[in-house]
Amino acid sequence: MRFLDSHAHLADPAFDADRNEVIARARAAGAVAIVAIGESLVAAARARELSAAHPDYVYFTAGVHPHDAASFDAPRDTAAIRAEVEQGAVAIGECGLDYHYDHSPRERQRRAFAAQLALAGETRRPVVVHTRDAEDDTAAMVREAGTAGICGVLHCFTGSHALAHAALDSGWYISFSGIVTFKKWADDALVRLVPDDRLLVESDSPYLAPVPDRGKRNEPAWVARTVERVAAARGASPVAVGELAVLNATRFFSLHAA
Ligand SMILES: [Zn+2]
Ligand SMILES: [Zn+2]
Repeated sequence: MRFLDSHAHLADPAFDADRNEVIARARAAGAVAIVAIGESLVAAARARELSAAHPDYVYFTAGVHPHDAASFDAPRDTAAIRAEVEQGAVAIGECGLDYHYDHSPRERQRRAFAAQLALAGETRRPVVVHTRDAEDDTAAMVREAGTAGICGVLHCFTGSHALAHAALDSGWYISFSGIVTFKKWADDALVRLVPDDRLLVESDSPYLAPVPDRGKRNEPAWVARTVERVAAARGASPVAVGELAVLNATRFFSLHAA
């Protein structure tokens, strides 16, 4: 089976001790590439270095997570993200709205997200979006972005069918993580709702390890189990779903690998 991990926090200190082994295991498991997420400017710089060390295998993104939106300074941070794009970042993000934890005031989250959506439009890059318990505002901002020609992915998606439809209608993609392997997962209809050409898969590592390693440090190799679970939900073969994930991520991020 081949697949592509569209969302890994590979720059996270959780991987400092054995990052090269983690990457080697991903290759051995069939990962044709890994998108290393820069959820902060510090993480983006580290992810850029990883990308340079693993050309045509590790790609990187740059953005500011909604948890940190309170300290988002639009002129300073959009300039810094733009500089990462000029150095090869394949997407803006992750950014978005998280009203579950509310680590930053919601108005600040919306402002930081809007600024990064606008930057995605300016730089003609796709946007990697985190959304939790912020359905209406996410749907409104995604629809507006879609109208402006901005493409994005709702990553680690566990939201409503209505929000999924809002994203899909806007030309966006939806990515599933190891959450679909959890015993409490009860929405295979959501997994089936995403058309073949908009489906992505991800580890979101080091978080959200799939069953039977739930609670442990996650790693990109384990996306294979998520592919198997997504395939079962869709009544498709794991090989076919893995190939879709490769094809779609390659198109979405304009990768030259795979
Ligand atoms: Zn996220
Ligand atoms: Zn993430």
